[in-house]
Amino acid sequence: MASSSRRRFIYQTSLFAGLFSFRKVASASSVAPVNPSGPIVLSTWSHGIPANVAAWEILAKGGRSLDAVEAGVRIPEADPNVTSVGLGGYPDRDGHVTLDACIMDEFANCGSVACLEHIVHPISIARLVMEKTPHVMLVGEGALKFALDNGYKKTNLLTPESEQHWKEWLKDANYKPVVNWENHDTIGMIALDSKGNLSGACTTSGMAYKLHGRVGDSPIIGAGLYVDNEVGAATATGVGEEVIRICGSHLVVELMRQGASPGDACREAVERIVKKQPQRSKELQVGFLALNKHGEFGSFCLQKGFNFAVKSDLHDNSLFDSKSHY
Ligand code: ASP
Repeated sequence: MASSSRRRFIYQTSLFAGLFSFRKVASASSVAPVNPSGPIVLSTWSHGIPANVAAWEILAKGGRSLDAVEAGVRIPEADPNVTSVGLGGYPDRDGHVTLDACIMDEFANCGSVACLEHIVHPISIARLVMEKTPHVMLVGEGALKFALDNGYKKTNLLTPESEQHWKEWLKDANYKPVVNWENHDTIGMIALDSKGNLSGACTTSGMAYKLHGRVGDSPIIGAGLYVDNEVGAATATGVGEEVIRICGSHLVVELMRQGASPGDACREAVERIVKKQPQRSKELQVGFLALNKHGEFGSFCLQKGFNFAVKSDLHDNSLFDSKSHY
């Protein structure tokens, strides 16, 4: 991100060689099968608060975590004031609002859509991909056709406010995205239900003013989201390219499988980004959020400012500030 031009967030793809360290493995069978403290739901950023309310309505009645995460993230998807998810999301540089989303359940069923236009609820299309097709991922025109074939209607997702912001951006050759706000507000939601089953959902309009066709980490199973019902679930927010490079959410879950706490697993994933590209990691945000099978949770991020909302019988849906590397 050295260039001062508006293309500054189109990153070079070269990687530093990195040394990997592995922790001594603890057996996943040591993980308790059922969460002792009841259901819990966690979501990234402050728009996670109303999302958690919707998810909790399902979890509190003994509902399935999959239904909870879908219902939860539909709230910011439909909120035109959330400019990083769904309706009202900032467009790409050509003025298209293109949405990415994925969902995953306790059986490792998963579905995903990427670069989907005109549909307010990409998470529900991702769930349909999971449940009605033999595939995991549909993109672009094919994803839109699938949504329309399944009864969804086209909506103009570009609100006047987001269009205005985009037009301002077009004028400003020195534009620089604002860390922790403009580019980093995916909602990732992970939940454990009263039966002890985990699910997750992740949905975003992605990086503001990206190249048309750019897909980030959020719809990529293993990058923006991963769920393993034996172990835990993780989700990511921030610059998706960095998360994809390390298969971030899968890495966090695998570290938990090896015995790491959710917080330590998130920290190790963030440190891996720092170790590979120390200079670049100073200028961007990535945050991970993780929940294990016991209902324990943790997070870690690169820069201060990432927060998340937690709702359970023990947590009142207020925001936690994540620990950070810098
Ligand atoms: N991870 C998303 C992406 O790269 C951005 C975000 O978290 O807001 O598309």
